[in-house]
Amino acid sequence: MGDGLRRLARYGNAKSQTVRLLDTAGDTACKEAGLRPTKIRQCGEWLLFRHYHTKGQTKLRAANFCCTHLICGFCAIRRGARMMARYLERFTLARGKKPFLQPYLVTLTVRNGDDLRERLDHLDKSLTRLHKRRHGKRSRSLLTAVQGAVWSYEVTYTEGKGWHPHVHAVWLAADLPDQYALRAEWEEITGDSFMCDVRPIAPEQAEKEEEAVIDPYAKGFAEVFKYAMKAAELPPKVALDAYTVLRGRRLVRSFGEFYGVPEPANDDLADDIPEEELPYIDLLWRYAGEGRYEHAKTVDRTCEHGQGRSDDVVL
Ligand SMILES: [Zn+2]
Repeated sequence: MGDGLRRLARYGNAKSQTVRLLDTAGDTACKEAGLRPTKIRQCGEWLLFRHYHTKGQTKLRAANFCCTHLICGFCAIRRGARMMARYLERFTLARGKKPFLQPYLVTLTVRNGDDLRERLDHLDKSLTRLHKRRHGKRSRSLLTAVQGAVWSYEVTYTEGKGWHPHVHAVWLAADLPDQYALRAEWEEITGDSFMCDVRPIAPEQAEKEEEAVIDPYAKGFAEVFKYAMKAAELPPKVALDAYTVLRGRRLVRSFGEFYGVPEPANDDLADDIPEEELPYIDLLWRYAGEGRYEHAKTVDRTCEHGQGRSDDVVL
Protein backbone atom coordinates (compact mmCIF):
# COMPACT_ATOMS: atom_id res chain seq x y z
CA MET A 1 0.00 0.00 0.00
CA GLY A 2 3.00 2.33 -0.18
CA ASP A 3 1.73 3.94 -3.35
CA GLY A 4 -1.78 4.26 -1.90
CA LEU A 5 -0.51 5.95 1.26
CA ARG A 6 1.60 8.40 -0.73
CA ARG A 7 -1.47 9.29 -2.73
CA LEU A 8 -3.56 9.76 0.41
CA ALA A 9 -0.98 12.19 1.75
CA ARG A 10 -0.95 14.12 -1.53
CA TYR A 11 -4.74 14.27 -1.80
CA GLY A 12 -5.10 15.24 1.86
CA ASN A 13 -2.60 18.03 1.47
CA ALA A 14 -4.32 19.35 -1.66
CA LYS A 15 -7.70 19.18 0.05
CA SER A 16 -6.58 21.08 3.14
CA GLN A 17 -5.04 23.80 0.96
CA THR A 18 -8.27 24.17 -1.00
CA VAL A 19 -10.34 24.42 2.18
CA ARG A 20 -7.96 27.09 3.47
CA LEU A 21 -8.38 29.08 0.25
CA LEU A 22 -12.20 28.91 0.54
CA ASP A 23 -12.06 29.93 4.20
CA THR A 24 -9.89 32.94 3.44
CA ALA A 25 -11.88 33.99 0.36
CA GLY A 26 -15.24 33.57 2.11
CA ASP A 27 -18.34 31.88 0.68
CA THR A 28 -19.90 35.12 -0.58
CA ALA A 29 -16.91 36.00 -2.76
CA CYS A 30 -16.72 32.39 -4.01
CA LYS A 31 -20.38 32.42 -5.01
CA GLU A 32 -19.98 35.79 -6.73
CA ALA A 33 -17.19 34.23 -8.81
CA GLY A 34 -19.59 31.43 -9.83
CA LEU A 35 -18.20 28.76 -7.51
CA ARG A 36 -20.10 26.33 -5.32
CA PRO A 37 -18.06 26.43 -2.10
CA THR A 38 -20.04 23.74 -0.26
CA LYS A 39 -19.52 21.23 -3.04
CA ILE A 40 -15.81 22.05 -3.24
CA ARG A 41 -15.43 21.65 0.52
CA GLN A 42 -17.04 18.21 0.35
CA CYS A 43 -14.84 17.10 -2.54
CA GLY A 44 -12.70 14.08 -1.66
CA GLU A 45 -14.38 13.56 1.73
CA TRP A 46 -14.31 9.86 1.01
CA LEU A 47 -12.06 7.87 -1.30
CA LEU A 48 -12.45 4.27 -2.33
CA PHE A 49 -9.21 2.56 -3.31
CA ARG A 50 -8.93 -0.88 -4.86
CA HIS A 51 -5.66 -2.60 -4.11
CA TYR A 52 -4.49 -5.45 -6.39
CA HIS A 53 -1.84 -7.09 -4.29
CA THR A 54 -0.82 -9.65 -6.93
CA LYS A 55 0.12 -6.74 -9.21
CA GLY A 56 1.20 -4.32 -6.50
CA GLN A 57 -1.21 -1.73 -7.92
CA THR A 58 -3.61 0.59 -6.16
CA LYS A 59 -6.41 2.31 -8.08
CA LEU A 60 -8.71 5.08 -6.99
CA ARG A 61 -12.01 3.41 -7.78
CA ALA A 62 -14.36 6.21 -6.73
CA ALA A 63 -14.61 9.47 -4.78
CA ASN A 64 -16.99 12.40 -4.50
CA PHE A 65 -15.47 14.89 -6.92
CA CYS A 66 -16.49 18.57 -7.11
CA CYS A 67 -15.13 18.83 -10.68
CA THR A 68 -13.80 22.38 -10.18
CA HIS A 69 -10.22 21.61 -11.15
CA LEU A 70 -9.15 25.27 -11.41
CA ILE A 71 -9.76 25.84 -7.70
CA CYS A 72 -9.82 22.35 -6.17
CA GLY A 73 -6.34 20.87 -5.79
CA PHE A 74 -7.61 17.30 -5.50
CA CYS A 75 -9.61 17.49 -8.75
CA ALA A 76 -6.63 19.18 -10.45
CA ILE A 77 -4.36 16.26 -9.53
CA ARG A 78 -6.93 13.71 -10.67
CA ARG A 79 -7.68 15.47 -13.95
CA GLY A 80 -3.97 15.76 -14.70
CA ALA A 81 -3.41 12.07 -13.98
CA ARG A 82 -6.31 11.01 -16.21
CA MET A 83 -5.17 13.17 -19.10
CA MET A 84 -1.58 12.07 -18.79
CA ALA A 85 -2.61 8.42 -18.96
CA ARG A 86 -4.53 9.06 -22.18
CA TYR A 87 -1.75 11.00 -23.86
CA LEU A 88 0.87 8.43 -22.85
CA GLU A 89 -1.31 5.78 -24.43
CA ARG A 90 -1.54 7.84 -27.62
CA PHE A 91 2.23 8.36 -27.56
CA THR A 92 2.79 4.58 -27.42
CA LEU A 93 0.46 4.17 -30.40
CA ALA A 94 2.24 6.90 -32.38
CA ARG A 95 5.62 5.32 -31.68
CA GLY A 96 4.28 1.96 -32.81
CA LYS A 97 3.68 3.49 -36.25
CA LYS A 98 6.68 5.84 -36.28
CA PRO A 99 9.42 4.52 -33.98
CA PHE A 100 11.74 7.41 -34.92
CA LEU A 101 9.57 9.97 -33.10
CA GLN A 102 11.07 11.37 -29.92
CA PRO A 103 9.24 13.44 -27.29
CA TYR A 104 10.51 16.93 -26.39
CA LEU A 105 9.35 19.17 -23.59
CA VAL A 106 8.86 22.69 -24.94
CA THR A 107 8.01 25.77 -22.86
CA LEU A 108 6.87 29.01 -24.48
CA THR A 109 6.16 32.21 -22.59
CA VAL A 110 4.99 35.77 -23.18
CA ARG A 111 5.93 38.84 -21.20
CA ASN A 112 4.19 39.45 -17.87
CA GLY A 113 1.19 41.76 -17.67
CA ASP A 114 -1.61 42.90 -15.36
CA ASP A 115 -4.48 41.87 -17.63
CA LEU A 116 -4.67 38.08 -17.58
CA ARG A 117 -7.26 37.84 -20.33
CA GLU A 118 -5.23 40.06 -22.68
CA ARG A 119 -1.99 38.14 -21.94
CA LEU A 120 -3.68 34.76 -22.51
CA ASP A 121 -5.21 35.92 -25.78
CA HIS A 122 -1.79 37.15 -26.89
CA LEU A 123 -0.21 33.79 -26.01
CA ASP A 124 -3.01 31.92 -27.73
CA LYS A 125 -2.84 33.93 -30.95
CA SER A 126 0.95 33.69 -31.04
CA LEU A 127 0.80 29.92 -30.65
CA THR A 128 -1.78 29.58 -33.40
CA ARG A 129 0.52 31.54 -35.71
CA LEU A 130 3.52 29.43 -34.75
CA HIS A 131 1.67 26.15 -35.23
CA LYS A 132 0.30 27.25 -38.61
CA ARG A 133 3.86 27.46 -39.88
CA ARG A 134 4.05 23.68 -40.02
CA HIS A 135 1.88 23.78 -43.15
CA GLY A 136 3.06 25.03 -46.50
CA LYS A 137 5.66 23.49 -48.77
CA ARG A 138 7.99 26.46 -48.65
CA SER A 139 7.79 26.99 -44.91
CA ARG A 140 11.22 27.17 -43.30
CA SER A 141 9.82 27.05 -39.80
CA LEU A 142 11.17 24.40 -37.47
CA LEU A 143 7.52 23.50 -36.92
CA THR A 144 7.57 21.57 -40.22
CA ALA A 145 9.51 18.83 -38.40
CA VAL A 146 6.97 18.57 -35.57
CA GLN A 147 4.55 15.71 -36.18
CA GLY A 148 2.46 16.02 -33.07
CA ALA A 149 2.02 18.33 -30.11
CA VAL A 150 -0.02 18.54 -26.96
CA TRP A 151 0.17 21.68 -24.86
CA SER A 152 -1.38 23.13 -21.75
CA TYR A 153 -1.68 26.62 -20.38
CA GLU A 154 -0.35 27.56 -16.98
CA VAL A 155 -0.61 30.92 -15.25
CA THR A 156 1.52 32.12 -12.37
CA TYR A 157 1.24 35.41 -10.54
CA THR A 158 3.74 37.57 -8.72
CA GLU A 159 2.74 40.64 -6.72
CA GLY A 160 4.05 43.71 -8.52
CA LYS A 161 4.96 41.77 -11.68
CA GLY A 162 1.51 40.60 -12.68
CA TRP A 163 0.51 37.53 -14.64
CA HIS A 164 2.92 35.20 -16.33
CA PRO A 165 1.02 32.91 -18.70
CA HIS A 166 3.01 30.20 -20.41
CA VAL A 167 2.62 26.94 -22.24
CA HIS A 168 4.16 23.55 -21.56
CA ALA A 169 4.11 21.21 -24.53
CA VAL A 170 5.22 17.78 -25.64
CA TRP A 171 6.36 17.91 -29.24
CA LEU A 172 7.03 14.79 -31.29
CA ALA A 173 9.85 15.03 -33.81
CA ALA A 174 12.68 12.90 -35.17
CA ASP A 175 15.38 15.30 -33.93
CA LEU A 176 15.81 17.85 -31.16
CA PRO A 177 14.20 21.13 -32.28
CA ASP A 178 16.79 23.93 -32.28
CA GLN A 179 16.04 26.14 -29.28
CA TYR A 180 17.73 29.19 -30.80
CA ALA A 181 15.80 28.92 -34.05
CA LEU A 182 12.61 28.58 -32.02
CA ARG A 183 13.49 31.67 -29.97
CA ALA A 184 13.97 33.69 -33.15
CA GLU A 185 10.63 32.53 -34.56
CA TRP A 186 8.82 33.10 -31.28
CA GLU A 187 10.16 36.64 -30.90
CA GLU A 188 9.20 37.47 -34.46
CA ILE A 189 5.65 36.27 -33.74
CA THR A 190 5.06 37.59 -30.22
CA GLY A 191 6.98 40.86 -30.57
CA ASP A 192 7.60 40.84 -26.83
CA SER A 193 9.17 37.54 -25.88
CA PHE A 194 11.78 35.13 -27.07
CA MET A 195 11.63 32.99 -23.93
CA CYS A 196 11.44 29.34 -24.98
CA ASP A 197 12.98 26.20 -23.69
CA VAL A 198 13.40 22.86 -25.44
CA ARG A 199 14.63 19.66 -23.81
CA PRO A 200 14.40 15.96 -24.62
CA ILE A 201 12.16 13.77 -22.49
CA ALA A 202 14.35 10.83 -21.59
CA PRO A 203 12.74 7.52 -20.59
CA GLU A 204 13.04 6.87 -16.89
CA GLN A 205 14.52 3.58 -15.73
CA ALA A 206 13.43 1.78 -12.58
CA GLU A 207 16.11 2.15 -9.91
CA LYS A 208 15.49 -1.28 -8.49
CA GLU A 209 14.23 -4.19 -10.49
CA GLU A 210 11.20 -4.69 -8.24
CA GLU A 211 10.16 -1.04 -8.56
CA ALA A 212 8.40 -1.21 -11.88
CA VAL A 213 8.09 2.18 -13.57
CA ILE A 214 4.45 2.68 -14.59
CA ASP A 215 5.45 4.44 -17.79
CA PRO A 216 9.04 5.50 -18.50
CA TYR A 217 7.84 8.79 -20.01
CA ALA A 218 5.35 9.68 -17.26
CA LYS A 219 7.70 12.02 -15.43
CA GLY A 220 8.43 14.04 -18.56
CA PHE A 221 4.78 14.24 -19.57
CA ALA A 222 3.73 15.24 -16.03
CA GLU A 223 4.95 18.79 -16.58
CA VAL A 224 2.30 19.29 -19.25
CA PHE A 225 -0.55 17.71 -17.31
CA LYS A 226 -0.23 19.43 -13.97
CA TYR A 227 -2.55 22.19 -12.74
CA ALA A 228 -3.37 25.29 -14.82
CA MET A 229 -2.80 27.47 -11.78
CA LYS A 230 -1.91 26.84 -8.15
CA ALA A 231 -5.00 28.54 -6.75
CA ALA A 232 -4.14 27.75 -3.13
CA GLU A 233 -0.86 29.67 -3.41
CA LEU A 234 -2.45 32.85 -4.77
CA PRO A 235 -4.09 35.66 -2.79
CA PRO A 236 -7.77 34.59 -2.68
CA LYS A 237 -9.07 37.56 -4.67
CA VAL A 238 -6.45 36.98 -7.36
CA ALA A 239 -7.35 33.27 -7.52
CA LEU A 240 -11.07 34.01 -7.90
CA ASP A 241 -10.46 36.64 -10.59
CA ALA A 242 -8.26 34.20 -12.48
CA TYR A 243 -10.92 31.53 -12.16
CA THR A 244 -13.46 33.75 -13.93
CA VAL A 245 -10.98 34.29 -16.79
CA LEU A 246 -9.82 30.68 -17.13
CA ARG A 247 -13.13 28.89 -16.77
CA GLY A 248 -14.56 27.88 -20.11
CA ARG A 249 -11.20 28.14 -21.89
CA ARG A 250 -9.70 25.04 -23.42
CA LEU A 251 -6.55 24.63 -21.39
CA VAL A 252 -5.18 21.50 -23.07
CA ARG A 253 -4.94 21.33 -26.85
CA SER A 254 -3.17 19.29 -29.47
CA PHE A 255 -2.41 18.66 -33.15
CA GLY A 256 -1.02 15.92 -35.38
CA GLU A 257 -0.27 12.60 -33.70
CA PHE A 258 -1.84 13.85 -30.45
CA TYR A 259 -4.99 15.20 -32.05
CA GLY A 260 -8.39 13.97 -30.90
CA VAL A 261 -7.50 12.45 -27.53
CA PRO A 262 -10.75 12.97 -25.58
CA GLU A 263 -10.65 15.03 -22.40
CA PRO A 264 -11.90 13.15 -19.35
CA ALA A 265 -15.50 13.97 -18.50
CA ASN A 266 -15.90 16.14 -15.42
CA ASP A 267 -17.10 13.28 -13.28
CA ASP A 268 -14.68 10.74 -14.76
CA LEU A 269 -11.74 11.40 -12.49
CA ALA A 270 -11.29 7.94 -10.95
CA ASP A 271 -8.75 5.45 -12.30
CA ASP A 272 -9.54 2.84 -14.91
CA ILE A 273 -10.11 -0.52 -13.25
CA PRO A 274 -8.31 -3.49 -14.89
CA GLU A 275 -10.63 -5.59 -17.03
CA GLU A 276 -9.05 -8.92 -16.07
CA GLU A 277 -10.37 -10.61 -12.96
CA LEU A 278 -7.84 -10.16 -10.19
CA PRO A 279 -8.13 -10.56 -6.44
CA TYR A 280 -8.39 -7.24 -4.65
CA ILE A 281 -9.04 -5.42 -1.41
CA ASP A 282 -11.31 -2.37 -1.36
CA LEU A 283 -10.38 0.26 1.14
CA LEU A 284 -12.59 3.16 2.09
CA TRP A 285 -10.94 6.24 3.56
CA ARG A 286 -12.63 9.27 5.09
CA TYR A 287 -11.22 12.76 5.41
CA ALA A 288 -10.46 13.54 9.05
CA GLY A 289 -9.43 17.19 8.61
CA GLU A 290 -6.00 18.85 8.64
CA GLY A 291 -4.95 17.04 5.48
CA ARG A 292 -5.38 13.57 7.00
CA TYR A 293 -7.44 10.58 5.91
CA GLU A 294 -8.49 7.81 8.22
CA HIS A 295 -9.30 4.27 7.22
CA ALA A 296 -13.05 3.62 7.46
CA LYS A 297 -13.76 0.16 6.01
CA THR A 298 -12.28 -2.79 4.15
CA VAL A 299 -13.68 -5.44 1.83
CA ASP A 300 -11.26 -8.28 1.23
CA ARG A 301 -11.56 -10.06 -2.11
CA THR A 302 -8.24 -11.80 -2.01
CA CYS A 303 -9.96 -15.23 -2.02
CA GLU A 304 -12.24 -16.45 -4.77
CA HIS A 305 -14.76 -13.90 -5.97
CA GLY A 306 -17.80 -13.85 -3.79
CA GLN A 307 -16.11 -15.68 -0.96
CA GLY A 308 -14.02 -12.87 0.40
CA ARG A 309 -14.22 -11.47 3.87
CA SER A 310 -16.14 -8.27 4.26
CA ASP A 311 -16.80 -5.88 7.05
CA ASP A 312 -19.77 -4.45 5.25
CA VAL A 313 -18.73 -1.74 2.89
CA VAL A 314 -21.82 -0.52 1.15
CA LEU A 315 -21.05 1.44 -1.98
ZN1 LIG B 1 -12.70 18.74 -6.29
